[in-house]
Amino acid sequence: MTVREITTVGDPILRQRAPDMSNDELREPETQGLIDDLIETRRASGGAGLAATQIGALKRVAVVEVDEHTRYPYKPLVPLTVIVNPVVEPLSDERLLINEGCLSVPGLRGDVDRCLEIAVHYLDRNGEMRRMVVRGLTAGTFQHETDHLDGTLFLDRVADPKSFSTWEQFERHRQDEFLRRVAPYTRDAA
Ligand code: ZN
Repeated sequence: MTVREITTVGDPILRQRAPDMSNDELREPETQGLIDDLIETRRASGGAGLAATQIGALKRVAVVEVDEHTRYPYKPLVPLTVIVNPVVEPLSDERLLINEGCLSVPGLRGDVDRCLEIAVHYLDRNGEMRRMVVRGLTAGTFQHETDHLDGTLFLDRVADPKSFSTWEQFERHRQDEFLRRVAPYTRDAA
């Protein structure tokens, strides 16, 4: 396992769609090693998730994991989940405005409109088909990581550019209101 360098906005790989991965490709030691590196790099960086394009690999795989050390202390804990070829299926028309950040967009946060409740269809790292239903902030995290594999950044989905802030200014001016608004979906409520 290696902690890899994280690509940042402006790197063309973040704007490319990662092609679907075959089961053969998934089984290759190189791909399994990439998944190990994704896990290690996410843990070293404190993000809620990390997509392969963020460590420079155009592969349709991402990891989601929220533990005590993740830099979003209000997000519900999520056990390590490796998602290959993920597809997001909205389960209702309800939306949730979520303030997001991204390891590939250092320093910046903004409000993104997300589906409130989704099913994520994916292969696990062994190639088994999985379906997981997630809501609220956790649903937002899975949508954010799946977006990465389509070359989409949260920046593209910020409807109101006035919602952009640094992390410091978010904590100073916006966090209280945000946490009140998403209270049913926070770690404390989970
Ligand atoms: Zn991101």
